[in-house]
Amino acid sequence: MEGREKIALIARLVESREIAPEVRHFVFDVPSVERLTFAAGQFVSFTELFDGLKVTRAYSIASPPDGNSFELCLNRVLDGRFSPYLFQLHPGEEIEMKGPLGGFTVRDPNVDAIFVATGTGIAPIRGILKDQLRRGSTRDYLLLFGVRHEHGILYSREFEALARQHPNFRFWPTLSRPDASWKSRTGHVQTHLEEALSGRSGIHVYICGMKAMVDDVRARLKEKGFDRKQIIYEKYD
Ligand SMILES: Cc1cc2nc3c(=O)[nH]c(=O)nc-3n(C[C@H](O)[C@H](O)[C@H](O)COP(=O)(O)OP(=O)(O)OC[C@H]3O[C@@H](n4cnc5c(N)ncnc54)[C@H](O)[C@@H]3O)c2cc1C
Repeated sequence: MEGREKIALIARLVESREIAPEVRHFVFDVPSVERLTFAAGQFVSFTELFDGLKVTRAYSIASPPDGNSFELCLNRVLDGRFSPYLFQLHPGEEIEMKGPLGGFTVRDPNVDAIFVATGTGIAPIRGILKDQLRRGSTRDYLLLFGVRHEHGILYSREFEALARQHPNFRFWPTLSRPDASWKSRTGHVQTHLEEALSGRSGIHVYICGMKAMVDDVRARLKEKGFDRKQIIYEKYD
């Protein structure tokens, strides 16, 4: 395993499908290995040549370990380089990959946790939650997931099903631009942090998304006396 992250592998697209406007779910495999060993929540690093220049981007693995395949969840960045390229990839096409890498992983499986995500920041958290729940964890888990519109609640049916199956898992989507028909939580994830914490101080908080949200949630937690070891985060920008 030593040095595995430095070795370039070839990932092959198995399938990709739209799960919300401008958001796709991808399944890749790595045909050269029997098993891709990683901890749920880690990311892979993809490299491709654009006009003769090597461009590398990180993508969080959205699935728990499963043989030699892994899943990603991406939004297409307008005028972006890499995300539009991945969106037009066809099944069977290949891409250079390194990893899995990174430390956005479960710090202590014996501690209750809140997961805070916005947009595709849900990717590594989906992997972690599916992994922990399938292992039979009985810890208390709460997912606070912020998006603009109802159709942007990625994997909503899956999380709703998990919440039905596991009484220790609560799913709180919140919309910043809801339609009149939306009868649940509204506003940014920060609006609901206090209620999610409900006075608990001995828990871990996992945060993933764009820098502005991640930094704001971290600052709020620090104000409440949370130690930095209790806050695990990944920033996409
Ligand atoms: C550890 C890590 C994990 C990541 N995991 C994911 C993931 O699972 N899914 C994913 O979609 N992206 C993820 N990203 C972001 C990804 O690496 C790219 O930055 C993103 O795809 C944009 O690349 P691009 O070449 O298309 O755009 P670029 O030409 O690089 O344009 C960059 C612009 O896109 C913004 N940007 C970066 N990420 C996003 C995003 N997700 N949504 C909107 N704007 C963004 C940047 O702030 C910047 O303004 C991750 C980043 C890191 C560091």
